[in-house]
Amino acid sequence: MDHVLARLLRERVLGYLDAVDAQGSAESRQVSAAWRALLGIHETTESGACRECGRRKARMCTVWRVACAYFTPEREPRLRG
Ligand SMILES: [Zn+2]
Repeated sequence: MDHVLARLLRERVLGYLDAVDAQGSAESRQVSAAWRALLGIHETTESGACRECGRRKARMCTVWRVACAYFTPEREPRLRG
């Protein structure tokens, strides 16, 4: 995946979680905190690979793909349940 696109998607996902934190209840802030922790574990390395999954930079790891599908709804709608 292009580094610029990956960075933009990351910013959109984290921006969505910021908006949830700003508007949400204690329970929704807890869910967004859990997502931030999970996404932090699956942060990419300098080479673009996932720290946890080790997936190469050409494909975003599954955790980030799900986050993008749900938190940037115009992306990958087929992943949404
Ligand atoms: Zn991963």
